[in-house]
Amino acid sequence: MAGLWTYLDGRILRPEDARIGLLTHALHYGTAVFEGIRAYWSEAAGQLNIVAARAHYTRFARSARIMRLPLSEDADELVAITVELLRRSQLREDVYVRPILFAASQDLDVDYRAGGASLAVCLVPMPGQDGQDAHEGAGLRCVTSSWRRVPDAAMPVRAKVAGAYVNSCLAHLEALDAGCDEAILLTADGHVSEASAENLLLLRDGACITPPVTDDILEGVTRALLLRLLTDDLGVPVLERSVDRSELYVCDELLLCGTWTEVAPVTSVDGRAVGDGCPGRIGRELRRRYLAAVRGESPGPAGWLVPVY
Ligand code: PMP
Repeated sequence: MAGLWTYLDGRILRPEDARIGLLTHALHYGTAVFEGIRAYWSEAAGQLNIVAARAHYTRFARSARIMRLPLSEDADELVAITVELLRRSQLREDVYVRPILFAASQDLDVDYRAGGASLAVCLVPMPGQDGQDAHEGAGLRCVTSSWRRVPDAAMPVRAKVAGAYVNSCLAHLEALDAGCDEAILLTADGHVSEASAENLLLLRDGACITPPVTDDILEGVTRALLLRLLTDDLGVPVLERSVDRSELYVCDELLLCGTWTEVAPVTSVDGRAVGDGCPGRIGRELRRRYLAAVRGESPGPAGWLVPVY
């Protein structure tokens, strides 16, 4: 039966029938790990393709392991659950998929291990986005946040942990209050880490520079694909190294990348224009290639797209 379906602990339910208790540990302490996955509808192929499902679920399993949350399904089983959910919902539009594994304990003790974990997968349709490029025209205005990125020494940043997103929320709201679109966070020692929910790519003198995984970033799935496209398809050399804040002010192009934001050019940082203040050439080309790959219009890496129908 069409209409949205949700997965919760082995059952496929209507979203309104999926209920959890108010004392759920994850609600109080942020003890959950999650993913953000996209499926793109291709009108030409009459197909809904899930992007990088295996890579996302592999990160999900790693996040679970870091947080000691039990997960019995492997990445392939999680992909199969997602395909089944999308197929049942009969969606023919772009969809955001939100899997979450959360500490299910109903005990307020911080030790959540005895309560086990619940697994849910939610679908959020994104109608009207087909073929649209939200970042074709104007770029994003960013500010350096007064909040520092959570250091891995305080919380595991390569795990996508719900509680860590308090840091993202504070930084993002601060950017909006400043009349900008997004925040760039520095590490505790002052290097550029990432944006509130996107990784960063700088282009300088024909090369791409991106903060390394040891500078408190989430190890982004989109970042990994783009670095491959840059080196293999565009012949742009990639340097993974620590980035100083002032490099943001002198780079030729600056891009945010992530599943939600896709590839978005930044046109100002802290009131200074990036390059000539317009989206740059390499960023535009990279975005075009990324969107073609996720929409199934050009071949991406093997297994990159998982068809639903
Ligand atoms: N950093 C953070 C903090 C994020 O939340 C996200 C979105 N998942 C990203 C980077 C980009 O990661 P991905 O390309 O895997 O979506």
